Amino acid sequence: MLRKFKIDKYHAGIVPESTLFKTLRYLDTEKIETPFLLIDKDKVREKTTMIGRNIKNAKVFYAVKANPDIEILRFLNGLKMGFEIASEGELEILSSIGVEPSRIISSNPVKSLKFLKIAASCRVNHFSFDSMEEVNKIAKFIPDCNVYVRLSVPNEGSEWPLSKKFGVELDDALSLLSYAKDSGLNPVGITFHVGSQCTNIYNWNIALDKAKTLWDISRKKGIELRLLNIGGGYPIKYTKNVVSIEAIEKNVNSLIFERFPEDIEIQIEPGRAVVGDAGIFVSTVIGKAARGDEDWVYIDVGVFNGLMESVGGIKYSYIVEGSRQARSRKQWTIAGPSCDSFDVIDKNVSLPEPQVGNLMLVLSSGAYTVSYASEFNGFSIPKTILI
Ligand SMILES: *Cc1c(COP(=O)(O)O)cnc(C)c1O
Repeated sequence: MLRKFKIDKYHAGIVPESTLFKTLRYLDTEKIETPFLLIDKDKVREKTTMIGRNIKNAKVFYAVKANPDIEILRFLNGLKMGFEIASEGELEILSSIGVEPSRIISSNPVKSLKFLKIAASCRVNHFSFDSMEEVNKIAKFIPDCNVYVRLSVPNEGSEWPLSKKFGVELDDALSLLSYAKDSGLNPVGITFHVGSQCTNIYNWNIALDKAKTLWDISRKKGIELRLLNIGGGYPIKYTKNVVSIEAIEKNVNSLIFERFPEDIEIQIEPGRAVVGDAGIFVSTVIGKAARGDEDWVYIDVGVFNGLMESVGGIKYSYIVEGSRQARSRKQWTIAGPSCDSFDVIDKNVSLPEPQVGNLMLVLSSGAYTVSYASEFNGFSIPKTILI
């Protein structure tokens, strides 16, 4: 029996029709217990060819934390992608599939001692830092490796800001580069992160202004840099249109090559943009209830087993199975399966009436979902399946 979904133009504006089509075909032929995450390989491949295309001298390093599923990593490795990591766990999985250390960098400014030890033995050679303690640690475990300093830059307009935890201002960045050099490390460049799901193109302008200032003052101090790592932050469509990667990159490219040396090396570290909009979570409606004047629908994926970012303000789009009541749309509060009242995914979502037992698809959910999932309350971590 073919499943029926109420798909409209809105959905096709969020996820490509080819991805939706593949998903529906998969659901018609496979019987797997929900919840699980489907990743459209063709979409991932398309994103990897798009990212970095409009920035000269750019190398792309996938931020593994967005989705560390081994099949995704194998697929990206096959496409000769680079990888950005933060932990020994991420490094071990990359080593296990044969990624050479020259294609691995770590831009986590505070690394554990255990990670540094293992990174040294695997001959990873590019690390970010933003404190003297970090220089001391890196110099001890991996003397004369390449390091780049993390600048703090505005994260306004990013739906998942990262700036408060990491990064230093210009003066500190300059003294840290000197300190790294004096400690025997090889200070090669600058990094920043404009914030994840960054829909404000000006964040890159401000960040590049700051980086250029640091580049010049470092040079005056006798530190010749060669690398600019522009972090991640490229946005994807969740419920509305966002600035395109092409527009961001053309802007970034012109800003860089107006001001930095022609032979500068550029690194980009996208996570969300590589896998986010290639992913569709498949869940089942497990209950419905009217509470006061709110209509609640409960699905088997929630805040603790996949949709954690909803708590930080990411809003997803949904497709409901079953077309009979398709015309009667109502506002729904969507909640996950656990007994915790924190497990509420969204409110005031306009949906056709969902039926218990039917499927509900969560669009653009390939990044920062399964990688955050826990087994809280006995719900298992959803599988990721490449299609
Ligand atoms: C998480 C992270 C990224 C990826 O960010 P996205 O917004 O997913 O593109 C890149 N670099 C660093 C250092 C990160 O921590």
